[in-house]
Amino acid sequence: MIESSAAAAGSDAAQVTVREDRTAQLSASLSALVQRIDAACAAAGREPGSVRLLPVTKFFPASDIEILYNLGRREFGESREQEAGDKVAQLSQLSQIRWEFIGRLQRNKAKAVARWADTVYSVDSDRLATALEAGTRAALDDGSRDTPLRVLLQVSLDADPTRGGVRDQALRALADQVAGAESLQLAGLMAIPPLDVEPDAAFEQLARIHTALLREHPQASVLSAGMSGDLEAAVRHGSTCVRVGTALMGARPITSA
Ligand SMILES: *Cc1c(COP(=O)(O)O)cnc(C)c1O
Repeated sequence: MIESSAAAAGSDAAQVTVREDRTAQLSASLSALVQRIDAACAAAGREPGSVRLLPVTKFFPASDIEILYNLGRREFGESREQEAGDKVAQLSQLSQIRWEFIGRLQRNKAKAVARWADTVYSVDSDRLATALEAGTRAALDDGSRDTPLRVLLQVSLDADPTRGGVRDQALRALADQVAGAESLQLAGLMAIPPLDVEPDAAFEQLARIHTALLREHPQASVLSAGMSGDLEAAVRHGSTCVRVGTALMGARPITSA
């Protein structure tokens, strides 16, 4: 009896230590990352603070998100619907937390994501946009959300249809569709550069596509480009939002998603 409660107290203390260690780790990597982004802005002749950091927390537990929340972060990027939905439920007591869905999204998951996501970054087909519009309308009607869903269109920079993203005429048609949908708000563009292309060349191409889009949709001001390995190049080419996982959280247990 005494032994087992002592053991329980010991394991509580061990858990507190683990949490303190993780807090120190995340606090240090967050400071370093914010400095890195500021340095990238300075090197590009841009205002510090003109690039937003979206921490990407996929594969990491809700407890890590709570630590980052306590360090002042309010927005989190997730890319797997089931995992994200679980974390949203676990952390629903954290006020003003905002969830941004950055991964590939299947149409049959659109309805679920429309209930909790502030923004979806990866819209690349008219059918997905239509599903998100319907899902968001339902969520607005039943009170599970009270704002339109912000949408970024995912741009393909290599015309490989298996990697997702749209370009050219399909991109323009999709922008018109989203801008005209009452429950959606066209917020901008997102892209992931192809592995075999220089990030600078890819982000330069993306910036040109964004400039063209802004002529027809001036409200689509977000340009989400840049991750752990290439954020400096993205900032050089006008990114307004970098999505960073590894450089903040550490290596993911699985790297395929
Ligand atoms: C995982 C992921 C990121 C973060 O990538 P890191 O290289 O770990 O910084 C950014 N964007 C998307 C769409 C992702 O899925």
